[in-house]
Amino acid sequence: MSLDYLALANAGVEKLHPYQPGKPVAELERELGISNSVKLASNENPLGLSPKARAAIERSLPELARYPDANGFALKSALAGKLGVNTDQLVLGNGSNELIDLVFHTFVAAQQQVVFSQYTFIVYAMATQAHGAQAVEIPAKDFGHDLDAMAAAITDQTKLVCITNPNNPTGTFLTKAELAAFLAKVPRQVLVILDEAYTEYVAEDERHPSIDWLAQYPNLIVSRTFSKAYGLAGLRVGYMVAHPELISVLNRVREPFNCNSLGLAAAEAALNDEAYLSEVVELNRREMARYETFFEQLGLRYVTSRGNFITLDLQRNAAPVYEALLREGVIVRPIAGYGLPTCLRISIGLEHENQRCMDALAKILA
Ligand SMILES: *Cc1c(COP(=O)(O)O)cnc(C)c1O
Repeated sequence: MSLDYLALANAGVEKLHPYQPGKPVAELERELGISNSVKLASNENPLGLSPKARAAIERSLPELARYPDANGFALKSALAGKLGVNTDQLVLGNGSNELIDLVFHTFVAAQQQVVFSQYTFIVYAMATQAHGAQAVEIPAKDFGHDLDAMAAAITDQTKLVCITNPNNPTGTFLTKAELAAFLAKVPRQVLVILDEAYTEYVAEDERHPSIDWLAQYPNLIVSRTFSKAYGLAGLRVGYMVAHPELISVLNRVREPFNCNSLGLAAAEAALNDEAYLSEVVELNRREMARYETFFEQLGLRYVTSRGNFITLDLQRNAAPVYEALLREGVIVRPIAGYGLPTCLRISIGLEHENQRCMDALAKILA
């Protein structure tokens, strides 16, 4: 006996497809019977954990029989000090992905409109669909957000606008002037998530002062994560910064123990390891430049990126090149699911990993 489970599910679920993660190394090696493959597919930090984060995890092990601190007091205090905000302006999540979902659970009802760009983080489209809300996807401009068109698309039905800067999967970047002009146009009752998952990779003088903007825009929600530059993707810690009353509304819906003890402790330690962060950013800058030079030498098109990844446009179906790279033991990310079937996204790895990728690409494309 079976049931029509899809018919039982909530309205948006029928049209939803599971998130397609980057291919795990172990899976590729099992399938091809190879070893030594490299994964440059999920924008993970190639340097691994900061030694301080690792030590903090070890110190937390004896406490694992206890529930974590539901308020994340220590991490929030550290973040508040670093960002110059109050702890009541912060909410912590099981990755920022959970917090994006939390904003939807809390604020977005069926039929309401959510505005986001073509070629952006797919989680926005998924959450919109899951809530039976209406996606208003604005065609991209030069692989990135067209903020004028996004502002023009806001209607009385719009509840939320989602912006990713730097954008994933294309790496495009909106300047502070562009973003400030956009925020000034958004009506107060329309919430804006500004997803800054890659902000640590942006040179400080180019970064937009999003935390300062919070005082001016009570509808602004800044989203960040420990999964990328801080190297803690496996521990799932992200945070949002917003008006204290907005945070307090989110806290009504948030699961009390959404962040685990190891993640909380590791994130706090990682936040204070500035030497590690500088090393991460410097490696990324250096290796990004190497990819750009390599692509130029091969006459390949790419999108200039401010993230820890670079998107290559092969201007033909990229799937065969993706498959050929797999056979060379190099896992990159096809982004046909984002509407970019001619592109591959390559996460910036260690020097020798990037070299493997470049050598394999040169061989395949020769
Ligand atoms: C990787 C990424 C995130 C972070 O997800 P976590 O759940 O914090 O690991 C959020 N937004 C974008 C655009 C990303 O690329």
